[in-house]
Amino acid sequence: MLGPVILAASRSDRMRRLISAAPVTKQVVDRFIPGETVDAVVPIIEDLTGRGLELTMDVVGEDITTPEQATAARDAYLRLIERLGNLELGTRAEMSIKLSMFGQALENGHELALANVRPVVEAAAAIGTTVTLDAEDHTTLDSMFAIHEELRKDFPQTGCVIQAYLYRTEEDARRLAASGSRVRIVKGAYKEPASVAYQQKAEIDKAYVRVMRTLMEGEGYPMIGSHDPRLISIAQELARRSGRKLDEYEFQMLYGIRSDEHLRLAAEGHRMRVYTAYGTDWYGYFMRRLAEKPANLRFFVRSMVSKG
Ligand SMILES: Cc1cc2nc3c(=O)[nH]c(=O)nc-3n(C[C@H](O)[C@H](O)[C@H](O)COP(=O)(O)OP(=O)(O)OC[C@H]3O[C@@H](n4cnc5c(N)ncnc54)[C@H](O)[C@@H]3O)c2cc1C
Repeated sequence: MLGPVILAASRSDRMRRLISAAPVTKQVVDRFIPGETVDAVVPIIEDLTGRGLELTMDVVGEDITTPEQATAARDAYLRLIERLGNLELGTRAEMSIKLSMFGQALENGHELALANVRPVVEAAAAIGTTVTLDAEDHTTLDSMFAIHEELRKDFPQTGCVIQAYLYRTEEDARRLAASGSRVRIVKGAYKEPASVAYQQKAEIDKAYVRVMRTLMEGEGYPMIGSHDPRLISIAQELARRSGRKLDEYEFQMLYGIRSDEHLRLAAEGHRMRVYTAYGTDWYGYFMRRLAEKPANLRFFVRSMVSKG
């Protein structure tokens, strides 16, 4: 029940100001967002890749309001790519991008986001890696899929994300699997109405399994984005039945969540990619992590009270 309330708060400017300014918030935030600058996260990139993990890097900051901020977001990714190029990690470190941060919600947003994301995809390709377009709320998805299709004409390795909680996703999965895309499947992290999305966990989990089966049996490269142990073992079984080798799909989890499991799967020979977010505008990302697990919120509130 708490999840939707926290997700609603994630859109409130008043809550943003309150939480961002709370004295203890930073300590709690650090668990999920390990740095504010590229310099701060380079040692983390080196540490995680040194331990056999792969990365997808996310510069946080989806709530922009001007084209200048969208350009700044593009430039932040270009600076990150320059640093990754020096580390020579190739596909072991890719990028995750929210098109809202590239201007998608502004006037002529579709064209603006495409114009901003293309140079990032080009720069990523130049250092031997790629980009995955994150899935945001359902109103943004037609534009995201159209941009994904457009980018794939020149950069077929560009990936995208689909969300099991949406009714539309099984059809999206069939289309993407047939076209040979790299596709991350996740449960979905936004507050969506019953007119477009399953509301019950059991229904979302069942839809997730149906979508995984489509992806595993298809032509593309499935990326299983989940911390759910049951779904992870079903993924392994579906991959085995579809005749996929260990390097023909991968697991993805978020930085700071079930970190032992990251290492366990990597040690078993799986490709394990850690979604690592960094930056100063962490509010929206952080609130989604609180909403996913009420215990996070309890911990957060307790630490505020004890400091207070
Ligand atoms: C790599 C990756 C990329 C993602 N990209 C997107 C995206 O583009 N769009 C989108 O809408 N969503 C995205 N998500 C978020 C996703 O939609 C879910 O909200 C999130 O993964 C939680 O679902 P779960 O599959 O882990 O299962 P759950 O049933 O939520 O969790 C399973 C178990 O994992 C642990 N866990 C899960 N979340 C947390 C948490 N926040 N804190 C502590 N423990 C936790 C708990 O032990 C929990 O019991 C992404 C998730 C991952 C892993």
